[in-house]
Amino acid sequence: MSTPRRHIVVMKFGGTSVEDAAAIRRTTAIVAGRMRKGLSPIVVVSAMAKVTDTLLAAAAAAGRNAREEALQLSHGLRARHLNAAADLISNSAADGGRLTALQLQIQHEFDTLDDLLRGIAAVGELTARSSDNVVSFGERISSLLVTSVFADHSIPSTHVDARTVILTDNHYGKAAPQESAIEAALTEQILPLIDLNRVPVMGGFIGSCNGITTTLGRGGSDYTGALVGGGLHAGAIEIWTDVDGIMTTDPRIVPEALRVKTISFEEAAELAYFGAKVLHPATILPAVQKNIPVYVLNSRNPENEGTRITATPPPCASPFKSIAAKRKLTIIDIVASRMLLAHGFLKSIFDVFDKYECAIDMVSTSEISVSLTVDSREALPAICAELGKIADVKYEGNKALICLVGEDIRGQAGISGQVFSSISHINVRMISQGASEINMSFMINEEDVDEALRSLHRKFFSNPDPNIFDVAAGPPSTNPSSD
Ligand code: ASP
Ligand code: MG
Repeated sequence: MSTPRRHIVVMKFGGTSVEDAAAIRRTTAIVAGRMRKGLSPIVVVSAMAKVTDTLLAAAAAAGRNAREEALQLSHGLRARHLNAAADLISNSAADGGRLTALQLQIQHEFDTLDDLLRGIAAVGELTARSSDNVVSFGERISSLLVTSVFADHSIPSTHVDARTVILTDNHYGKAAPQESAIEAALTEQILPLIDLNRVPVMGGFIGSCNGITTTLGRGGSDYTGALVGGGLHAGAIEIWTDVDGIMTTDPRIVPEALRVKTISFEEAAELAYFGAKVLHPATILPAVQKNIPVYVLNSRNPENEGTRITATPPPCASPFKSIAAKRKLTIIDIVASRMLLAHGFLKSIFDVFDKYECAIDMVSTSEISVSLTVDSREALPAICAELGKIADVKYEGNKALICLVGEDIRGQAGISGQVFSSISHINVRMISQGASEINMSFMINEEDVDEALRSLHRKFFSNPDPNIFDVAAGPPSTNPSSD
């Protein structure tokens, strides 16, 4: 393993941190602050907020021949980026026509995008490969914009096309990164810039396979940040978003929710998986493997110390760190009357889900039945038809999973009794305490979520450990994250 490069900090800015001129100014000041501390930032940016959604809509429109609609959407994005550029960058001869150069770059990118949309509309079919190509423009253009703004603010910056660094397989829409190839590309392209005291700026989310553009999946910029940080063995990875970090629960539902100051990688991964929107679960992996701390920080409130995610958090006096809820789930009950869970029965069930690439959130088994939950309904009719050949199947929607996460559940006797007595007024469907021993989850009706979160929070966080939770801050500033 290479030696850690502690001076390198990978700073990933989500869509809300680059959404307009004001946000990009805040981001620029944050990066300048890190440089004043003697750190060497590598900046990874998302597309401006909502741009990815709009690009996907444009791609879909083109795919159904709605050419003008697609071009109209692209036109709106072009104006938004050009306006931000004009607002952010001074146009003086002294800076060598930086604004003009940037405007030409932006125009060129959008001309290329429009050609692509026309092509898709002409064929009238959208492939996963062209969809990735369309959607990549968000990060391609935001990273060009941010590079210029940095330069305009005396931050020596160099744009790096992420597609030359984040090398992936060809699973369009959710490509798998090839870590050793990425490490080689980082060493070749990024390290020399750091040695010259320049700030490399690259788009998140996008990559390439044999020169063809790919993406890492929605929310994938965090993943890019972790791949870059992991590949270079950086000292820290900072995920800049618009919330103060990981909270004890959703502050929009429970106003007394507190910021969690330190949390383990495993806890954060469980939370991400179970619906806390601050972090993409896969972010965790490349960082965990090299033991690099990840900070979740708020670009609207940069002085706040955020949440530190680390391999070895300090012990906590309370059993749980956070409670998450995942809504819009469907529960599937599978009853095998004759087989009594005979050898191979579970495997044949999971094989069906696997075949339809349908992820399962939670499983519980009894002697003759299996219940499981899924968050996507698309493949359900086909899945149930197939399962119907080996068992009786029925499904029911509008369910939600409540997940309590904490390292210190381990070995605590009576903890589930405390959990369920505090919500004894709520009907609980399925219970699971995962093998990880750091999460307890159970299924309820969607309409009971708010009440369950309030009751559980009252029970477990009314006397919070000040080493772990930010008790001084009082109620947090809430800002629904759109990253
Ligand atoms: N822009 C991409 C998305 O919205 C990636 C990201 O922001 O992380 O999914
Ligand atoms: Mg994001």
